[in-house]
Amino acid sequence: MLYAAYCRVSSEEQSKDETIDIQIDILKAYFEKNNIIVPEKRWYLDDGVSGELILRDRPAGAKLLLDALDGRLTHLVIVRVNRIARDDYAAQEAFHTLKKMGVSLISLSEPFNYFEPSGQMMATVFSSFAAYDRATIKQNFSDGKARKARQGKLPQGAVPFGYKLNKEDMSVWIYDEQAEVVRLVYKLYIEDNLSIKAIAEYLSSMKIPAPADYKTKWYRNHKRKGGWCEYSVNNILRSDIYTGIYPYKPPGKNPIPVPIPQIIDPETYFKARKIAKTKRLFYAPNSHREYLLRGMVFCGVCSSAYVGTSSGKGRFAYYRCTKKKSSEMSCTNQNINADILEDSVWEDLCSTFRNPNKLIAEVAEELKVSTRLDDYVTEIEEVIKRLDEVALERKRLLDLYAKGTLAEKELFEAITERDDSLKTLQERKAFLEQQIRIEQNHGDFINSVPIIAEQIERMLDNATEESKMSLFRTLINRVEIMPGESPEIRVSYRFGNTMLNDLSLVK
Ligand SMILES: [Zn+2]
Repeated sequence: MLYAAYCRVSSEEQSKDETIDIQIDILKAYFEKNNIIVPEKRWYLDDGVSGELILRDRPAGAKLLLDALDGRLTHLVIVRVNRIARDDYAAQEAFHTLKKMGVSLISLSEPFNYFEPSGQMMATVFSSFAAYDRATIKQNFSDGKARKARQGKLPQGAVPFGYKLNKEDMSVWIYDEQAEVVRLVYKLYIEDNLSIKAIAEYLSSMKIPAPADYKTKWYRNHKRKGGWCEYSVNNILRSDIYTGIYPYKPPGKNPIPVPIPQIIDPETYFKARKIAKTKRLFYAPNSHREYLLRGMVFCGVCSSAYVGTSSGKGRFAYYRCTKKKSSEMSCTNQNINADILEDSVWEDLCSTFRNPNKLIAEVAEELKVSTRLDDYVTEIEEVIKRLDEVALERKRLLDLYAKGTLAEKELFEAITERDDSLKTLQERKAFLEQQIRIEQNHGDFINSVPIIAEQIERMLDNATEESKMSLFRTLINRVEIMPGESPEIRVSYRFGNTMLNDLSLVK
């Protein structure tokens, strides 16, 4: 691997006491720590050159690109991305230009591959976890402690778990025994998928000394072992120090990133952060709680909607009547614990759809399909018979008139009467046909209930929070909270012809 270094300061930055030496010092410390040798001719220095210029328009930048083209370098190390380009877009362009030439760009202030899409995602994640402001390179490095810091030397005695301090020159080195534990913690968390609690228990059971143990005389005398707590495990998993940058914070000033040896590579660190983020979402549903019955719960006293709400920073989630706190109207109906309500409704839904026969009976009762359909069918048969009879009567009357046995006046009255009957009977027939169609659809629906129930039952078994919510939305018409000491919950389910379609959406 052929390493090279690139540094730049603008004349504007120079006027603010910022020199290119600061960057050189930081890069030198990094190379020294990682046993990288960079020959002098591979140090590309643009001193007093504006970042507005693209790389090939800068004196050292142009030379760098020519050397890269000739294959004289494979890795280019910079202190910070803004040294190579003025914005993200230009940085990407420079990165791709270098990549085509087979050169990897390494930025010390962005401890991840800033230029890859994954790195950019990490950059976003990182910004929310970073313990310090990365714009610190622009700081005035005049004081001695800061100078030590940028040489990779700690200006004070405290050293993080995993590292040891050479007290003579205050340089930081890896404490192998502790570093192994740091790596183990990451492995247990990422590869073995252990919880923070389980990791603490495991480490304690293995009699591995905890960070606190190193700080006590007790440990050194082997009289007592403190053991691991979740806090110390969490500290190791949260700390980006292990990716090789220690944020030294001079009193009253912005922190300075001190380059130190790397124990955990940035990729592993971000894997752990990502897991932590997912777990937080999973284990603390109350913090951003989904109210699974949103829009379906109503007050049995005032008929207003119940809404999901929480108190105690999301720890106590409940549903309450919307008229309860309004100034003009005050409903007396009680709040109801969200978990209890959702669980009760879920249980009711499960038992309802796990018992299709009961369901069919209830649906049939609800639609009164058996009696009504038969009535309609019987009636429509009579209506059709009567229609034929009336039509025949009408024809006979006309025959009588033609034979001359019926006077015109009598004919007119008799025909009008029959025509009115026909009209009424036809209206009734149309109505009955419509009703039968509706009832037959209900019948089809009833016949499909066992199939639907079976489908739903399968979904109940593997229901996640998300599919629970979908099932509630599909199957529940409304949930009513009735007043009383132990509140009665009335669940009404949705039955209708659209249900089959809706169900396919749930799946
Ligand atoms: Zn109410």
